[in-house]
Amino acid sequence: MNEAFFKSPDRPMGFGFAVNPLDRVSERREDEAFLGSLRARPDARALLICRDTPILKKRVDGLDPLFPLSEIDGVGASRQAALLGLLPGGAPVFAFLLDDGAVELRSDASDGFLDRRVMIVPGRGDLALIDMRSIAVQGLLAPDLVGMLGQAKALMHWHTRHSHCANCGAVTRVAASGWRRECDVCKAQHFPRTDPVVIMLAVDGDNCLLGRQARFPKSMYSCLAGFLEPGETIEDAVRREIFEEAGIVCGSVSYLASQPWPFPASLMIGCIAQATTLELHVDGIELEDARWFSRAEAASMLQGRHSDKLLAPHPMAIAHHILRAWTQG
Ligand SMILES: [Zn+2]
Repeated sequence: MNEAFFKSPDRPMGFGFAVNPLDRVSERREDEAFLGSLRARPDARALLICRDTPILKKRVDGLDPLFPLSEIDGVGASRQAALLGLLPGGAPVFAFLLDDGAVELRSDASDGFLDRRVMIVPGRGDLALIDMRSIAVQGLLAPDLVGMLGQAKALMHWHTRHSHCANCGAVTRVAASGWRRECDVCKAQHFPRTDPVVIMLAVDGDNCLLGRQARFPKSMYSCLAGFLEPGETIEDAVRREIFEEAGIVCGSVSYLASQPWPFPASLMIGCIAQATTLELHVDGIELEDARWFSRAEAASMLQGRHSDKLLAPHPMAIAHHILRAWTQG
């Protein structure tokens, strides 16, 4: 498998959310003096999240998600903050979660016929709220910024949903620079969650298995995927999901690469599975169709030249890169 492709720091798109330049300095998150010194640095920057959506500055040369700390109050009141890490060179990057009231939902019919709901910061025409998926799919920001925003979004989503102790119900407080919540009543500690998802290509010689969910864009086929369950290995989850969704039995499973996926806080674990049976039994629930594709056919889908106009997943998704690595042998 083409491991060099995944490790290359200059691959064309980076894939969405997988490139993150920050040194997380996790061993110093309890060091209040260190944190104070970081906040005082003039080159300290913040990523602002409100209602699960990044706030971006509109500039003549594009969008900028990095705010000096002195500009945050001018956008809205903050509920939470966390130290994401240090950029190469040492400048700290924080994430701030703003109160929901910092933004308003407005009706937008600017394209003439489609009435959409958009979020705005009232009185701040220089700012825009754009959802993470659009930022990644449309390549609106450099891959390293997309990776940092994914980290900020996933962490802030966790804070919004975990204000109270899951053990006793008391209000928890933030600790460790935003990377832990503590309950002063029952002493439980709570850590940000990441939900592992296996995403895999079952292969048999020169053929691979792709499926489509009803919600996929028309004509798109992709790798199968599913959540890992408690007490389950990655390999067993891969075999279970392929059998559940497509009726294919698989033997050996090998790991390829992973991708943080902040919707809301998953980690996609990309694998290749060797199929030992070929007869498909599509479940009709998770998948509406699944098919075997030859290596040449998969390559033509990646190139956008398939004879039936079938499409591969977008390059921001790890599924695209699993398929590409396999087609390239
Ligand atoms: Zn508690």
